[in-house]
Amino acid sequence: MSGPRRPIHRLDPETIERIAAGEVVERPASVVKELFENALDAGATSVSVRLADGGLSLIEVADNGGGIPAAELPLALERHATNKLSGPEGLSAIATLGFRGEALAAIASVSRLRLLSRYGDESEAHGLDASAGQLGPPFTASRAPGTTVGCESLFFNTPARRKFLRSAPRERLEVLDTLQRAYLASSAVAVDLSADGVELLRLPASRDLAEACAHVLGPEFDAVKFEVRAEDGARGSLEGWFAGPAVSRSSGRGVYLCVNGRPVSSRPLAQAIRAAFGDRLPRTRQPVGVLHLHLDPTRVDVNVHPSKREVRFEREPELAEWIRRAVRSGLVGGPEPAHDTVEPERFAPVPRTLGSFTPSSTTARHRSSAPAARQARLDSPRANRSVAAEGTRPALTLLGSVDRLYWVAESGADLLLLDQHAASERVWYEALLAHSRLGQQRLVQPVRVRLAPREAEVARERLEYLRSVGFEVEPMGGAEWWLRGLPSFRGRTAPAEEFPRLLAELADGGRPSVPDGLVERTAASVACHAAVRAGDRIDAEEMGRILAGLYALPSAPTSCPHGRPIAVRLPRGRLDRWFGRSSV
Ligand code: ADP
Ligand code: MG
Repeated sequence: MSGPRRPIHRLDPETIERIAAGEVVERPASVVKELFENALDAGATSVSVRLADGGLSLIEVADNGGGIPAAELPLALERHATNKLSGPEGLSAIATLGFRGEALAAIASVSRLRLLSRYGDESEAHGLDASAGQLGPPFTASRAPGTTVGCESLFFNTPARRKFLRSAPRERLEVLDTLQRAYLASSAVAVDLSADGVELLRLPASRDLAEACAHVLGPEFDAVKFEVRAEDGARGSLEGWFAGPAVSRSSGRGVYLCVNGRPVSSRPLAQAIRAAFGDRLPRTRQPVGVLHLHLDPTRVDVNVHPSKREVRFEREPELAEWIRRAVRSGLVGGPEPAHDTVEPERFAPVPRTLGSFTPSSTTARHRSSAPAARQARLDSPRANRSVAAEGTRPALTLLGSVDRLYWVAESGADLLLLDQHAASERVWYEALLAHSRLGQQRLVQPVRVRLAPREAEVARERLEYLRSVGFEVEPMGGAEWWLRGLPSFRGRTAPAEEFPRLLAELADGGRPSVPDGLVERTAASVACHAAVRAGDRIDAEEMGRILAGLYALPSAPTSCPHGRPIAVRLPRGRLDRWFGRSSV
């Protein structure tokens, strides 16, 4: 807070009436969020968080902020008592993170709370205990200036709410996430987190947002990030960093949105950010990055939701469009290319006896010097025609390939373009999944990998499972890990860089405590590595094999495991329109 500290006072009934009502404390992460905000409002430059048992038995938040005068400690624990908001008019332009005067009271009512604070030049700290909201006698203790709030046995007196908590590792991950979000919103503050004696986070005060992003989002993000900036006199300004398309997530949890220093979530604004990436990201993928909005506080309503996570914006559609354009121009670094959509082709399985793909003689000549390959035909053109005649599907004839990447094929009267990597990747992927177990390749030289905090937490939590899939890993201490073995299949191995990427995906999975999806993700990664790449010179025979593989899949795929299309069809009608034959 700027200016001299005001004393804590009870809010008047009219203001209380206008404050969004509801439950503030749902889980350990919401306790940490409130206590962290209090520390920031008190001007702290360093905040330390300790958990035991995922926060279920202990949450302790200590800061070096301005503290609370001894005489005001009981008021701090009272409902609707605050030193931030003064009257209802203050609600229209909230400049502090807190304003409702409810958090400490709410936490105290459902736990055993200890508030210990040393204010200004007081020579010692004063404390107060509360159990289920009942205050104990005051006491003194020694402490550096600042405040410590300890919250033990959360929900001990409300067993119904305790039942809604998830496992300790899951709650711990939520706390980690909350602190990272808070840090990315106000990264001039140093934050650390330890759980059951293990340090999970150590985020130093950052000079700027780029540095903060590097600490939280890790080296992968840092390597591909681009900057977003915009300014608009009436509206305010925005700044952010986003990963280029090479780094993306399967969920929207990788986008950190902050408004005037407050982490918030907003569907319309998140959608605007996603829209900025358009088809630069596969349809199933979400961007990763941080966006700070600096808006006139009278145009943002924070008093919408009890946890202050959701906010309302004045002229939201225009704001969203402004954001979309700013992120887009950061991404493309220039004007947008014209939009052109095509439908991905679906490779429905064909009966084995009828499936036929004819590499044309041109393809063979063009692509390979091996005589055997030159004559490669999986079937005769006559057979192709018979497929079409029976109406199963039009024959597919490969005509050639462009730039060792795109294959050109004729399918009935249409033109089909295929991506050789996506096609091959999908075939490998399905083969891997059909083969129930991945093997493991031990590395001769162990590889060191650096993990972002969230990834490291998932790795610790899922160590046994990761090993069962083939990742032989071991913490080295700090952010460094040893990789001693990697998943493999038919002699093909996932690259070491896949490990942090997989962990990020896993952290996003929503339910990291169940094994869902890890096998698929590992398979996708091995497949990606094993597949034919863009730029690989392959012969007609192999093209035919890949195509046959695609058409034999029961899943009728349209995309590679990462969601990029395998092929697009340019229908004859479209070609006709291009050539001015639309009346034909
Ligand atoms: P609010 O933050 O909405 O004012 P809280 O219940 O979170 O309500 O806190 C009540 C009051 O206690 C705050 O207004 C503030 O004066 C004081 N307080 C709480 N935590 C701290 C802290 N870490 N440092 C200094 N003062 C604090
Ligand atoms: Mg507060």
